[in-house]
This record gives sequence, structure tokens and C-alpha cells, in this order.
Amino acid sequence: MRTPLVVANWKMNGTLAEARALTAGVRDGLKRPRGVDVVLCPPFTALGVVAELLAGSPMALGAQNCHWETAGAFTGEISPAMLVELGCTYVIVGHSERRRDLGETDEQINRKVRAVLALGMTPVLCVGETAEERRQGLTFTTVEGQLRAGLAGLDHRAIGSGVLAYEPVWAIGTGVNATPAQAAEVHGYLRGLLTELATKEVAQRVRILYGGSVKPDNAGALTAEPDIDGALVGGASLSAQGFVAIVKKVTHKGVTVLKGE
Ligand code: PEP
Repeated sequence: MRTPLVVANWKMNGTLAEARALTAGVRDGLKRPRGVDVVLCPPFTALGVVAELLAGSPMALGAQNCHWETAGAFTGEISPAMLVELGCTYVIVGHSERRRDLGETDEQINRKVRAVLALGMTPVLCVGETAEERRQGLTFTTVEGQLRAGLAGLDHRAIGSGVLAYEPVWAIGTGVNATPAQAAEVHGYLRGLLTELATKEVAQRVRILYGGSVKPDNAGALTAEPDIDGALVGGASLSAQGFVAIVKKVTHKGVTVLKGE
């Protein structure tokens, strides 16, 4: 059975003082998370302080992006090796805000996925359609193209080491989440593609998160769907109380996974 995973994407938010307060709030609210993996992805500038506060906690540290090279003349970029040094074990790759606002291409995203895996970290590869693509009936075509390109050239073992996030662009930061049925349909499709790209066993192992306006009041219903293995949470992860509530709502196959709180 896949262990549910909840990833907080703080985006470009948080002074060091705010990062400390938010991390402490989440840590104190989730003293004994069981049966669920939790990852905090602060901005690069706060990785150090968040790492210090997470020391000894079962929660993991992640980054929101990285370059694909280890070092070199790439002004303003951060390498996967630098992230490892700071204690990161996860990296979000291919977020739609980067695809849309910074022109990140599928080819670059594929290079990042490979670089993250090469250093033993887990990429969280994001795919998702825009509102227009959904209107035109292109949802499956879009996510399939992004998935195939993002995982191009990876062997079965590498595919099985990653995490996917289905994040419909129209649901990100809008307050309008995909319904559990809409999300489940795409998650099922993605898992089918993983079977084709690797094996059924690998596809059953990969966690596929849903992201897009996840809140405490919809997290339970979304993650109760058998193919939805957790959440990638943006806005709601900026409140310790809200994020803790989401983690506590995450369920898998109808079983509440956080016990003893
Ligand atoms: C995200 O940025 O990955 C995200 C899902 O944002 P939000 O939860 O704010 O929709």
C-alpha cells in the first residue's frame, strides 16, 4: 500500500521569522505523524532555518525547483547538489507557475527530474491542463504529453522512485478545486500511463498527489479516492493550523491515517 504524502509548497512566501514560526507550528501540530509522509518546501532562502527546525522530526525538507547541472555559470540558479547539502530529499519539478511564467520546457523539466534522481532525491513532477485545454477536451492529451516528456529516458527503477502531482492549472490558487471524481479520472489515467511506461508493479508504487486549492474541507474527500495518494498544497500550507488540518484529513482507501493526535 502506498503511504500518503502531503507536500507544502510555500512558493515565494516567508521571511526567515515567518518560516521559523510556520515550521514550528506544523511541527508542534504534527508531533507524531503516522502513516503519512509530510514534506515542507520553503523558498531557497529559508531552507537552512527550516532544516534546523525539522532536525529529529519525521517531516522532510524539499525545494521548489533546481537547475539540472551540478555547478557552473548559471547565474541565479541553485543546483541539486546544493539542495542535498542543505538536507533536501524532495524537489518540486515542472510546477505550472514555472512553465507558464518562466517558460520552462518539458525538455528542461526532464533534465531536472534526472538530476534530482541522480543525487538520490525524489522529484515531485507536476503535470496539469489549463482551463482552455480542459474546455477543448485536451486534458488527457496534455497530461500525457507532460508525463511522457518529463519521464523520457528513465528506466523502470527511476520511474518508480519519483512522485507525480496532478495539478490542474485552473485549480491552482483559485479556490476552485477539481472534484474528487474529476481528479480521480486523471489520476487513474496517469497510473495507466505509468504501467505502460514501466510495469504494473512500478505504477502501483508511485504516489500521485493532487494539487489545486486543497483545503481542510476538501482534502479528505479528494484523498479518499483510491488513486489519489496525497496532496500538494500551496496557499493553505501558509497557515500551520490549516496545513496540519489537511494532513490530518488525508485518508487512503477510507482509513484515517493519522492516529494518536
Ligand atoms: C500549488 O502551487 O502547487 C498549489 C496547489 O497551490 P494552491 O494550493 O494554492 O492551489
